[in-house]
Amino acid sequence: MTIGALLASAGLAALVVARRWGPTKQEATAAVELPEPPSESSRRMAALLEALPAGVIIVAPDGRIAGVNASAASMFGIAPERAIGRALIESVRSYELDRRVTAALAGGVEESSELTFIAATERRLHVATRAVNRGDGKREALVVAVDRTRVIELETMRRDFVSNVSHELRSPLTAIKIMTETLQDGADPAAAKEFLENIARETERMIALVEDLLDLARLESGRLDLRFDSVDLSALVCDAVRSQSTRASKLGIRLDAVTPSGGAAIAGDRDMLTQVVVNLLDNALRNTPAGGAVTARVSSNGSGVAVDVEDTGIGIASDALPHVFERFYVVDRSRAKSKGGTGLGLAIVKHIVEAHGGSVEAQSELGRGSLFRCSFGPAVRR
Ligand code: ADP
Repeated sequence: MTIGALLASAGLAALVVARRWGPTKQEATAAVELPEPPSESSRRMAALLEALPAGVIIVAPDGRIAGVNASAASMFGIAPERAIGRALIESVRSYELDRRVTAALAGGVEESSELTFIAATERRLHVATRAVNRGDGKREALVVAVDRTRVIELETMRRDFVSNVSHELRSPLTAIKIMTETLQDGADPAAAKEFLENIARETERMIALVEDLLDLARLESGRLDLRFDSVDLSALVCDAVRSQSTRASKLGIRLDAVTPSGGAAIAGDRDMLTQVVVNLLDNALRNTPAGGAVTARVSSNGSGVAVDVEDTGIGIASDALPHVFERFYVVDRSRAKSKGGTGLGLAIVKHIVEAHGGSVEAQSELGRGSLFRCSFGPAVRR
């Protein structure tokens, strides 16, 4: 049974106006008889209505709001005590909704479709308007709204995700196909060697992408088994810096670790936390020109432990900065292609840090460098 039919069959619209949500201004002044005390079933019905995740607004025959449940109040951003007794359009600033309600009141016309409603934020609502005949021969209108904003957002994210993955895989596959065909047609040994190296590189990129995707899927679904242990972040950062030091010196970048003398242990998954630090160091090294510096710093105080990875590199523009933790977000696509990068690294970092109850933030200035900070809870005693 639809909510409208439910309310109509229970005669609830009138009941809600008179008992649960109080009389409308007009009814209050016109009332001569005291209303009967609410019955058990009507009280139950009113409680149900108030608890419904769907928004319900009841509009009296004169076009004034007679009832608003809590969900409708939050969806449409209205205060029920101020809305009741007022014309619908004064509280809900949607001419489309007003038109539908007027049609329902005048001719019993029922409509049901998506409506974009903008109050504090934009919301995508599925709104049904239906007429309810009252016992006195007049009609009330019932507005039932279901908030679909999140569902639509998720659907868009899913579609973007599939299209991004397809795009990321198609480019290397096309390159491999062309190079393989050229090799099949016969190429001189020098060209053949170069093609084979390119094929190997493109294959590596695809494997890295698929591994990142699998990591992300496991992290997002919560299926990743984190093995929590006492992990000294100072030692972990020193190891990670050591693992990148040959690469850094080849690139002409100074790479340092700065850690507190007493260590800084947290409860965490060592491999996952290593992945976080290596990912941040890798980004810093990829985005810092020769002659620059990258520093990984661990600091600890009573409220928590922080790992900073700072570089003096190219920096990130302020309009791009809020998006860098989104999956597949790449600041400069042509640069990412030449430097290797799928736009998944920071999304993975964020998931891992959050799975440890921590948070991650980025500060950056274009042309001057970037700072990525992972903050964790208080250090554990060892
Ligand atoms: P990718 O794997 O492509 O590097 P990430 O998710 O790690 O993807 O990073 C997202 C974007 O943020 C990338 O385009 C990258 O260039 C940029 N970025 C990340 N770290 C830095 C940094 N330290 N300096 C400048 N840009 C950075």
